[in-house]
Amino acid sequence: MRIGVLGAGQLGRMLAISAYPLGHQMRFLALSEEDPSSLLGKTFVHDNNPEVIQKFSNDCDVVTYETENTDINIVNEISKTIEVYPGDLSLSLTQHRGREKTLLQKLNIPCAPFELVNNVSDLTRAINNIGLPAILKTTEDGYDGKGQFLIKSESQIDEAWEAMSGEESILEGFIDFKRELSLVAVRGTDGSLKYYPLAENSHHEGILRLTVAPAQEISESLQKKAESYMISLLTEIKHVGVLTLELFDSDDELIVNEIAPRVHNSGHWTIEGAQTSQFENHIRAITNSPLGDTSIKSQFNAMINIIGKYGPTNKVLETRNAHLHLYDKKERKNRKLGHITITSDSYEELQKSIDNLSDYLP
Ligand code: AMP
Repeated sequence: MRIGVLGAGQLGRMLAISAYPLGHQMRFLALSEEDPSSLLGKTFVHDNNPEVIQKFSNDCDVVTYETENTDINIVNEISKTIEVYPGDLSLSLTQHRGREKTLLQKLNIPCAPFELVNNVSDLTRAINNIGLPAILKTTEDGYDGKGQFLIKSESQIDEAWEAMSGEESILEGFIDFKRELSLVAVRGTDGSLKYYPLAENSHHEGILRLTVAPAQEISESLQKKAESYMISLLTEIKHVGVLTLELFDSDDELIVNEIAPRVHNSGHWTIEGAQTSQFENHIRAITNSPLGDTSIKSQFNAMINIIGKYGPTNKVLETRNAHLHLYDKKERKNRKLGHITITSDSYEELQKSIDNLSDYLP
């Protein structure tokens, strides 16, 4: 099939890499010829030009998007003629923290207490209701911790609101979590579902740096609890493709922080670590094919992000159980340039390889 991707970043690139062995062709609706996917398929640089978008769409059999920041108008326009998976509902929900949390509440999936905030008096009221500490976040366009302010005392109210630059925001109660987990799952067009094991994620300054999968010390009931939240959500929104739940583990209570309607950085370990990677499973789902086995190939897996600078890549290549994935991007502060996956059948060996590559960790 001719698969179109709205966006041409590293996620589109990795989708392409897993689509080719299945005989598909790739098209990208890109912002520039230099985007990380642009050499992996036919690229349409659009500048919001409807004619280019139409040409792109005419050249595809099915379309997907690689980020929740995709313009929903483009999705709606293309959906008039061909299928866009996961679809506009998954996109519109995850583009707005308020809509996302309202849905979670409706489905009885635990999330932080929240209130929408449009001015200082809303914020004061929300703080009275939710208490402090709390986090103020813009409802839209926030990622990797951007557009967020941790409020510890009422004296910070004005400063916090100013940091939102007048944008609609959401105040969330601060969750005192033990660790951050994520669950990556995939749903097919026939409603079939598959899950990867829960992964544990470590962030630095809001950016994911290390994922260990499966997360250690996960009881079967915790995994099942996460899966049950996933079932309600995916079924409710009739999502097709991969979706990721970012979770806080707070004394064995799982609290959803965020939903990503797509393949996720915390699922990159599946490239070498699972029987079928998250990328291949997304491609399978949107091309109406049977979903692949999500079980792990090695008992212990890790993923380290390469942020800002390429660093000692030869060291990665020399590490027996490590795999290097670079996205063909220029070095820039805090930019995701690539990642490393590490696989092992012993936790000690995994840890040793992680330590060996500690240049890449903060
Ligand atoms: P987000 O952009 O919403 O994923 O937030 C980025 C990071 O901020 C998360 O990975 C958490 O480490 C932290 N964070 C976000 N929301 C909360 C919360 N309600 N309570 C505690 N920490 C949070």
